[in-house]
Amino acid sequence: MAIAEIFMLLFTPGPTPVPESVRQAMATPTLHHRTPEFEAIFKETRELLFKLFRTDEVVMLASSGTGAMESAVTNLCHDTLLSINCGKFGERFGKIATASGLNNVEIKHEWNTPASVAEVEEALKENSSIDAIAIQISESAGGLRHPVEEIAKAAKAINPEIIVIADGITAVGVEPIDVTHIDCIIAGSQKALMLPPGLAILGLSNVAIEKIGEGKGYYFNLATEIKKQRENTTAWTAPTTLVIGTRAILEEIESKGGLDKLYADTALRAKATRNALEALGLHIYPQSPAASMSTVDDEHAKEIRDLLKTDFGVNVAGGQDHLKGKIFRINQMGLIEPYEMVAVVNAVELSLSKLGRRTFDGTASRVFNETYFKSIIGNS
Ligand SMILES: *Cc1c(COP(=O)(O)O)cnc(C)c1O
Repeated sequence: MAIAEIFMLLFTPGPTPVPESVRQAMATPTLHHRTPEFEAIFKETRELLFKLFRTDEVVMLASSGTGAMESAVTNLCHDTLLSINCGKFGERFGKIATASGLNNVEIKHEWNTPASVAEVEEALKENSSIDAIAIQISESAGGLRHPVEEIAKAAKAINPEIIVIADGITAVGVEPIDVTHIDCIIAGSQKALMLPPGLAILGLSNVAIEKIGEGKGYYFNLATEIKKQRENTTAWTAPTTLVIGTRAILEEIESKGGLDKLYADTALRAKATRNALEALGLHIYPQSPAASMSTVDDEHAKEIRDLLKTDFGVNVAGGQDHLKGKIFRINQMGLIEPYEMVAVVNAVELSLSKLGRRTFDGTASRVFNETYFKSIIGNS
């Protein structure tokens, strides 16, 4: 194995690195899922998830995030979905609706542009058959933050029956989310939750549970799952290892100061990273950057990303579809030490120097450190 592969810093916005304590917890012998021992673990995990989601109900599914998106759409939309397509993941909601025989009305923008409250209001007034809205909180395709809480509030003011489905796969565990007007919020294990892929979680409101009724479908029937999970078990074989990992990561977050500290550290680190990148003359791509990742659009995005990997051992993500080779995305999700991000922004500066774009003088590290540590010390 090449040295670069061993020492590579994983800074893609999913998958994210799994902390050592969580890897250890998941290395214990496999438990049978229909036992009091596992039910006790499941119960504790649920209790920790309630603290994270702050919703009336939580449901764990053995699937990747897309499975939870599909289950949300099929169980909670019965006629027409309003999907917000400002990136690959928003587009997916529309595709799920169409594949499920539902009508899909779409609001579409370039991947750097968030949806506005006004255009959602307009769409709802024009289409009275819309019974659910699906939107990303953080749209990972371009790293933008939609004003989901405001959109949800405005939508409920127009139609109190409307269901708001929020994809929080790169938002739950990253920033505090006001779920007052959100009916369904989705998380996935391999992004903000720092776990291996394979577990998706839905937070549901009582309004959502009422609309689910008997549920739709079979494997992804949420009524079946809710009933079982309230009894601390699952309808089908539980992903026991990932449930154990979920409990371990939520305990790890607690032991490192809790969710509020994680949210504050992440917001500060994201801000310090943006400042450092801008100080290098780079441009932040989204108009409303999410805290989950820092996205730069640049004519040399591909070259920068390649140099980061081959010369400096830092693995960041590129863009997809029409943004392939045009952007790079640096992860901010998880328990990340500030010194790791200093290494990343420093590597970006070194890459720019290698490309002849600037003379290396340590600007990125200095600006990151100034932003991050001055506000921690309190003499900014
Ligand atoms: C990664 C991601 C998904 C898809 O999750 P999978 O686990 O790949 O199915 C959905 N939405 C957002 C915002 C994501 O970042």
